[in-house]
This record gives sequence, C-alpha cells and structure tokens, in this order.
Amino acid sequence: MELDMPRPQTWRYRNRRHFCRWTGPREAIMQLLSQTSQHLSAKEIYAAIHKFYPGIGLTTVYRTLDLLTRMGLIHKFSFGDGYNRYEFISDEKKKHHHHLICMNCGKIFDYSEFVDEELALVEKTEERLAKKYNFKIEGHNIEFLGVCKDCKK
Ligand SMILES: [Zn+2]
Ligand SMILES: [Zn+2]
Ligand SMILES: [Zn+2]
Repeated sequence: MELDMPRPQTWRYRNRRHFCRWTGPREAIMQLLSQTSQHLSAKEIYAAIHKFYPGIGLTTVYRTLDLLTRMGLIHKFSFGDGYNRYEFISDEKKKHHHHLICMNCGKIFDYSEFVDEELALVEKTEERLAKKYNFKIEGHNIEFLGVCKDCKK
C-alpha cells in the first residue's frame, strides 16, 4: 500500500531546539492518521512515517499509538486478522461510526448512516449495560462481517 506522507512540517523546524523524543513520534503519527481515512496497522504506520522520520523506531510507534489511544485522540480496533488498526477520531467521527468488514479482502468500510432502530438499540443497550454493571461506557465498536461488492463478483 502506498501512503502519502506530507513533508515534515514547519513545527519540526520551529521546535527543533525543543524537539524531544516524545513530541516527534506523536506529531508524526497524528499527522499521518488525520490525513487518511484508512484503518492502519502499527506496521503500516511505521512504514509510512519511517521515510520522513527515520529516527522513529517500531517500538516507539507502538508505544506512541498506545499513548494516543489512552489520550482518546485515536481509536484502536481489532478486526480479528491479528493486527490492531488505528484510526484518527475526527470531529465528525467523534459521535460514532460503525464498520463493515470484508472477510475476503479485509477492506473496511465506515458508515454512519444509521437507521433509527440501530441508534435506538445501541443507546438502550449502553444504558442497560451501564446500569447493570455499574460501568461508565465511553464508546463502542460495532462491526459487521461479510463479503464486499468486489469480492462477490
Ligand atoms: Zn456506534
Ligand atoms: Zn472484499
Ligand atoms: Zn472506521
């Protein structure tokens, strides 16, 4: 997969004096994820930013992804193919979107055109679970598995 990574931006040069090992990877990953609608694995993220930031190692990428997930800036998904995938949480995605996953080619489709019944069900389920388990629910992942249009041919 070819990913476009913008040239290192001015922040890096401007902040070179204050450049620390922590802000570098964090900014680079946020920059990459905010400009793609793809759901990328840590290895794909590493490959994409490595070209521009050769100093950032795979371990740092993993660690930074964990941190950004905990900070609530990106979403982590596990689609059952053995990789965690990461997605930037944009403002319009802040609400929520669900996924359709092709089990043949692994393509992931985002959708947020929910039918009313779907939304009502999700809300009701969250409410019930929160009460039953005295659990503060912060979000959910909903994915439907199947075969995409191209693979059905
Ligand atoms: Zn949802
Ligand atoms: Zn497919
Ligand atoms: Zn998504």
